[in-house]
Amino acid sequence: MTTFSVRFLGCKVSHVDAHAVRERLLAEGHEERDGGADVAVVNTCCVTNEAVVKSRKEAARAARTHRRVYVTGCGASLAGDAFAGLPGNVVVVPRRSEETPEFVAGDVGAIGCVQADARLDRVRAFVKVQDGCSFGCSFCVIPLVRGASRSRAAEAVLDEIRRRVAQGHREVVLTGINLGCYRDRSAGYRLSRLVREAGATPGLERLRLSSIEINHVDDELVRALRETPIASRHLHVPLQSGDDAVLGAMARRYSVATYLRRLQPLGDDFNLTSDVIVGFPAEDERAFKNTLRVVAEAGLTKVHVFPYSPRPGTGTAAADPVPPQVKKERSTRLRMASHEACLAHWRSKVGRDDLVLVDRQGRGYGDDYSPWLVPESAPVGQLLGVRGAGVSEEGILAA
Ligand code: SF4
Repeated sequence: MTTFSVRFLGCKVSHVDAHAVRERLLAEGHEERDGGADVAVVNTCCVTNEAVVKSRKEAARAARTHRRVYVTGCGASLAGDAFAGLPGNVVVVPRRSEETPEFVAGDVGAIGCVQADARLDRVRAFVKVQDGCSFGCSFCVIPLVRGASRSRAAEAVLDEIRRRVAQGHREVVLTGINLGCYRDRSAGYRLSRLVREAGATPGLERLRLSSIEINHVDDELVRALRETPIASRHLHVPLQSGDDAVLGAMARRYSVATYLRRLQPLGDDFNLTSDVIVGFPAEDERAFKNTLRVVAEAGLTKVHVFPYSPRPGTGTAAADPVPPQVKKERSTRLRMASHEACLAHWRSKVGRDDLVLVDRQGRGYGDDYSPWLVPESAPVGQLLGVRGAGVSEEGILAA
C-alpha cells in the first residue's frame, strides 16, 4: 500500500479528473492522506499562462515533500515543457483523461481491489458526462489537449448518480467540457433527457449543470430544467465578450443578440453566471464597454473574469496587443460590476424564503446557487429552510 494525496487546479472537469485518479488509487488499496503521503498527484490546468505557472509551482512544492509526484491534466498534455527542470521525482503524464487513472495506478503499483467505491465530497458530486470539444474557438487550447467531443453512455451516468446518492451525496452537478454536445445516440439521449432522468433519481435533492454554451440553451433544455423540480434555477453560460466583432474574432458561433434572446425564457427566476475574457486582441475600449453593457442587460451576476493570455497552438497564439495594465484595469472594472450585480441579486432575497444546501460549516447555496451564510450549528449536508435577513459581502444572511 502507498499513501497519496491529490490536488487539482482549474475547472470542474479538472476536479472530476483528479477525483477519477483518486478513486482509482483508493480502489487499488492505496490510502489517501492529507499530510506526509508518499505520492502526490497534481492535476494541472493550462487555460492561461498564469494557470500553467501556478501548476508548476504546485508540482515543485509537492516534489519537496513527496517521494513521487504525478503531474496530470491539461497542463501536462499541452505544456509538458513547462514542467522541465523539476526534480527527478516528478513524472509528467501527458495522457487523455480516460487513460490517466490507469497509468498512474499502474505506475504506483496495484495491490488488488480493497475499496471500490470510496466516498469523495460529502455533499456534492461532480459527474462527468461528456469530455472534449469540437468547436475550435480561436483562443482555446481545450480541443488540443482534450480532443474531440465524446459522451458517456446515459446508463453509466445514471448508474453513477444512483451510486453517488447511495454514498450520501445530496447534490449532483452534471459536468462536461461542452456539456450541450451530450449525446447517447444508441439510447436516444440528449442533455435534456439526461436532466429529466437524472432529476428523477430517488434520494437526490438537487441537480445542476456545470456550464453550457448559449447555442445549446434551447426550448427543450429550458423545459427540462423547469419541469425537473430538483433542477437548480441556475445556469452558467459563457459570454466571453459582449461585442460582435470580438465574438467573431473568437470564432464563438453566436452574436450578442442571440446570447440575449436565448437567455430570455429563463426570465427573472434563474441566476445567470458567466465567463468573460478581457483584453482579447480585437478588444478596444468601445468593445469592452459593450461587454459591460451586455453583462448588465443579460442580468448576469457572478462573472469569472479571465485576462487574455495567448495559448500555444491556438488561432491567436501569436497575438497579444492589449497591454497588461489595460487588461488589469478592465478586469477590475468588470469584477466590480459583477460584484455589484451579485449584491443586487442577493438583496432581492431579503425577506424571501429559500432552501439552502449546507455544504460546509456556516455556508451553503440556495436554489439558484446564490451563496448563503447560515448558523454554524447547521449540519453539513442538510437542506435548510431559510429566510433572507440581510446581505454581507460574501452572501445572503439567513434569519
Ligand atoms: S466551446 Fe470554445 S472555449 Fe469552450 S472548450 Fe470548446 S473551443 Fe474551448
